[in-house]
Amino acid sequence: CGFETMSLHPYLFRAIKKKGYTLPTPIQRKVIPVALSGQDMIAVARTGSGKTAAFLIPMIQKLKEHSTVVGARGLVISPTRELAMQTLKFAIELCKFSSLKVCVLVGGEGLKNEFSKLAENPDIIIATPGRLMHFILELNYSLASVEMVVLDESDRLIEMGLMEQVQEILSSTTNPNKQTLCFSATLPEFLTQFAKTGLSHPTLVKL
Ligand code: AMP
Repeated sequence: CGFETMSLHPYLFRAIKKKGYTLPTPIQRKVIPVALSGQDMIAVARTGSGKTAAFLIPMIQKLKEHSTVVGARGLVISPTRELAMQTLKFAIELCKFSSLKVCVLVGGEGLKNEFSKLAENPDIIIATPGRLMHFILELNYSLASVEMVVLDESDRLIEMGLMEQVQEILSSTTNPNKQTLCFSATLPEFLTQFAKTGLSHPTLVKL
């Protein structure tokens, strides 16, 4: 049961091979098919388990190639700038052989630079909540085209008091076909409660 059984786009399969991955990790084996089936999900997965590829692979598979649809179709929300930058690097590697465009929006980066990257109409945005809210509120950036949202390290988003902003961000992802995936190292009560209203019939995936 390797990546070749997942019917991935040849370019994505090639990028995975180039990363040197031969077999999916246990969490990838569980998460990728569920995510590809379109379901909302809470995945309990720690850093080191291969969780980043577990959400980037289905996101890239779903978005396929660069689209002229205005606005991002994939969104990853990270609690910290460092995590967002790491995820960006990974996403660029996995999109290497596709036409998909990836962009990062994080505090501490020049707004002008980020604004010009947004003007290129990226397919995937990786962002911290504060900076993304800035683009939504001050620059009217629309999240109406988003088809897949990932909340990475949801337990940390909660601990850091970022969920109010996350909820606001989610309320502007108005696409009725939107799929939401929450990744978290632990399963705090707050996340279980959030899932009841914020997700649609989520599947719980854990090892
Ligand atoms: P993560 O849990 O996303 O922080 O990933 C931890 C590490 O595992 C990273 O260095 C990844 O490059 C690596 N990794 C992810 N998936 C695989 C895989 N299927 N095979 C080997 N290494 C992997």
